[in-house]
Amino acid sequence: MSGPVVRCEVDTCTHWLPGNACAAANIDILHEEEGKMAQQPEHTECKTFYARRGVASFLGSMDNVDWMGMAREPFMGGKQINPTVTCVVESCVHWREGDLCDADEIKVSGQGADECQDTNCETFEAKG
Ligand code: SF4
Ligand code: SF4
Repeated sequence: MSGPVVRCEVDTCTHWLPGNACAAANIDILHEEEGKMAQQPEHTECKTFYARRGVASFLGSMDNVDWMGMAREPFMGGKQINPTVTCVVESCVHWREGDLCDADEIKVSGQGADECQDTNCETFEAKG
């Protein structure tokens, strides 16, 4: 399973790239409240969010940048920059054993977010 395409609108994150792409090597999708199973998208978060606050924060997040992806794909055509997704939100219909997500695409929302809790996996769908 190759994992979903990540579309992200959180333009205040250091990993965010124009075109709603994410340059992180991997993103972690978590329950917003530890120990509490998510029931709706607002109960999830992208833990890999890193607030864009000047140059220092950019340097601080550099260890999780998909530099190879950047090198392969300088912002045009062909292969897209895309992180792998590790998700622990078992209460979602797309969740699969091994912390995988079987959705073709996920949307991470939370435009203008200041912290992880402001972000959500919009594609979350509660198990029936
Ligand atoms: S909020 Fe998450 S998905 Fe969006 S750019 Fe940041 S790390 Fe990537
Ligand atoms: S769609 Fe569901 S399984 Fe996939 S990342 Fe979002 S919450 Fe996790």
